[in-house]
Amino acid sequence: MSIKNRLSAFKESLPPHCELIAVSKTHPVEVILEAYQAGQRKFGENKVQELVPKAEALPRDIEWHMIGHLQSNKVKYIAPFIHLIHSIDSLKLLEEVDKQGRKNNRVISCLLQVHIAREETKFGFSEEEILELLSKAAFDQLVNVKILGLMGMATFTENKTQVASEFRSLRSLFDKLRQHSLPKNMEMKELSMGMSNDYREAIENGSTFIRVGTAIFGTRDYSN
Ligand SMILES: *Cc1c(COP(=O)(O)O)cnc(C)c1O
Repeated sequence: MSIKNRLSAFKESLPPHCELIAVSKTHPVEVILEAYQAGQRKFGENKVQELVPKAEALPRDIEWHMIGHLQSNKVKYIAPFIHLIHSIDSLKLLEEVDKQGRKNNRVISCLLQVHIAREETKFGFSEEEILELLSKAAFDQLVNVKILGLMGMATFTENKTQVASEFRSLRSLFDKLRQHSLPKNMEMKELSMGMSNDYREAIENGSTFIRVGTAIFGTRDYSN
């Protein structure tokens, strides 16, 4: 199947509240352009040094999503154009995004990454850390960032019951926060969860953004 056909198959199967982010990491601009020409506008990348040259080479109306671990010292390179940062995993990083948002005279949209997987290696806040963050005065004062929701990655496993239960836990935190009185730089409307292997379980649990690479572009080659 062509990229175009895979994209339209996705589009047809997604519920109305859920959008597809095409994860183009490791794939060259020609491949991204093929998806663009098929109508795709939301693309996800996980490395700043790869995202910036791609954004420069490709059409301006692409919405770029930063989905990978982000180091504070690299925020400045994406701050002028990034559409949504999915991977906020510390107050320090959020403060840097706020600072760079101010320099660029914009409010940068972000999601808080929550650690839902059993694996130790994944980044993100725990539920307690998020609640603690909300109560901090330093958080309230950030006016050049807007938190739109949460992001999470399930454990990489064939065990669908486990994956579904991890997504359910993220969804229940999301619902809990919606009941909370939130600071004005925060709302709970987006839930970014689901990848090629687990987007079905994510959608069943209320995902609003699925981040899909392999199922659209094929397997990645990290050798070049
Ligand atoms: C690579 C990546 C994806 C997409 O993974 P696939 O399995 O290729 O769909 C989604 N989210 C994040 C954070 C990623 O790094």
